[in-house]
Amino acid sequence: MATPQDHETLAAMLLGTQRVVALAGLGLGRDTDQELGAASSDWASRASLEALLTEPDRFWAYYHPAAVEIAAREPGPAHRALARLQRTGIVDHLITQSADRLLVKAGASDVVEVHGNVMSARCERCGERYGLPEVGQLIADAVDGVPRCTTPGCGYPLRPSGTLWNEPLLQEGVQRAWELAGQADAFLVFDSALRTIPISLLPSVPLTRNVPLGIVGRTPTQYDRYARVVIREAAEPVLTAMADMLCPEESGA
Ligand SMILES: [Zn+2]
Repeated sequence: MATPQDHETLAAMLLGTQRVVALAGLGLGRDTDQELGAASSDWASRASLEALLTEPDRFWAYYHPAAVEIAAREPGPAHRALARLQRTGIVDHLITQSADRLLVKAGASDVVEVHGNVMSARCERCGERYGLPEVGQLIADAVDGVPRCTTPGCGYPLRPSGTLWNEPLLQEGVQRAWELAGQADAFLVFDSALRTIPISLLPSVPLTRNVPLGIVGRTPTQYDRYARVVIREAAEPVLTAMADMLCPEESGA
């Protein structure tokens, strides 16, 4: 269990530094550790790059309703607390491993989504993007169940904008995450098991510069022994307590 002293150490890291960068894991605010279960999940086999390339009709029949369900989710207390900490300037930048866009919905800004998000599809030939409702219509209208680009003369099969299982991460997001980690003067991890490379290696960037690391989450990580503070409990109550303590004027936001 976390001691009051652990909370104080975390609060001191948040208040005593100028550039706090926080990494939110796939399972931020969720009951189960999404990252650990991900490899054996339906999502891993059916929403993979291989599935898209080999059986696009079956891929979309699975992926699109799943993406619509994810897109309909609402942010929870952990997302709202992180957004509050950012709005009040206590946390500088947020990086997320999740594709659900819940931090943005909670009011966070400039969130680095290293896996992209599930909210759109794109054409790799001409670059056109399509929102989920449009994609649903294109699937319904297609004789083979595969949505295709509607740009005149294109017609290329669409793909989700975000990263698929077993696909390298988008270079732009990874580069941004590395830059932010390199500029941080405190680096905090919330609800991430830090098992999925390359993001699992991100804490090594601040550590090599002697920048303090804080880890909050139920799952032990490879960086625990290097951290200034490890709070082995779900991030939600910890983040809520931090936001209530450090930005009370925003309570209820
Ligand atoms: Zn196109």
